[in-house]
Amino acid sequence: MKLIEGKPIAEAVYRECLETFAMLKEAGHVPGLAVVLVGEDPASKAYVGSKERKCQELGMHSVKIEKPAETTQEELLAVIDELNADDSIHGILVQLPLPKHLNEDEVIMRIDPAKDVDGLHPVNIGKLAMDDPSGFAPCTPSGCQRMLIEMGIETSGKNVVIVGRSLLVGKSLALLMMGKGEGGNATVTVAHSRTRDLEALTRSADILVAAIGIPKFIGPDHVREGAVVIDVGINRIVDASAKNGSRLVGDVDFDAVAERCEAITPVPGGVGRMTIAMLMANTIRACRLRAGL
Ligand code: NDP
Repeated sequence: MKLIEGKPIAEAVYRECLETFAMLKEAGHVPGLAVVLVGEDPASKAYVGSKERKCQELGMHSVKIEKPAETTQEELLAVIDELNADDSIHGILVQLPLPKHLNEDEVIMRIDPAKDVDGLHPVNIGKLAMDDPSGFAPCTPSGCQRMLIEMGIETSGKNVVIVGRSLLVGKSLALLMMGKGEGGNATVTVAHSRTRDLEALTRSADILVAAIGIPKFIGPDHVREGAVVIDVGINRIVDASAKNGSRLVGDVDFDAVAERCEAITPVPGGVGRMTIAMLMANTIRACRLRAGL
């Protein structure tokens, strides 16, 4: 069994980022990322904090906009309008989920597609569906694909089963993996909560991706011998033996499944590492595209 670790692959992405960054800096451009956080959700705060730290580590311009949970739709749209008009900002990310009273779709649609480094604007999702590489692909799915490419795992002609159909992960990853680019050309099936006989379906997968949001949902009965397993899930569970009383686990029961697999991602230390790396790569690319370099 090979462990597919996120860290070395993310570092390869950061090395590429730094090369492009140096070229941009020489030409007088500094990539800028704005992250918008509404409310006090602790997990969202932690994600925003790590995005900010990574921007600073890379020497990028970084802006964090924190708004109270009772922010109105109009106020949030006005923030997006300002960022769209700000020339020092090349990427805008609105941390999801937003508080329930806000309309996420309208907010995402307000972002200038050229600054939509999260890749969720309909223009960018449309380009993904059209196999047009000029758009931005969502970060977690493109991180998963990059892991497969870097590990030399063939995807062409392979049966890929993705459990989870969110736009953020499952559906977008399906588009990427059935696309005609590198890490694509797979035969993709997307499963969800209404799928019948999930175990039989997932056992047909050469590459199984779990993006469900239920701790350790995928067990040995879901995985065929010799499969590659990508675990996107990040779930915090109570663990009295852990330092702070909880720990992170994936959607795959790693200990029960790992020995059957040809390769598998751990949680933490797997896909999670890739998401921020791809966000930085998208932001630097947005700056490069604007600079026409
Ligand atoms: P969503 O809740 O948006 O989607 C979950 C999907 O899983 C839905 O399509 C749902 O089906 C499906 N599902 C739920 N229960 C079952 C079931 N019993 N059988 C089959 N399918 C089921 O979650 P996300 O896609 O946003 O996230 C998925 C996981 O990935 C979470 O653990 C999240 O924390 C993690 N994540 C990790 C990231 C990273 O950087 N590594 C980034 C983003 C997310 P239906 O549509 O029918 O309800």
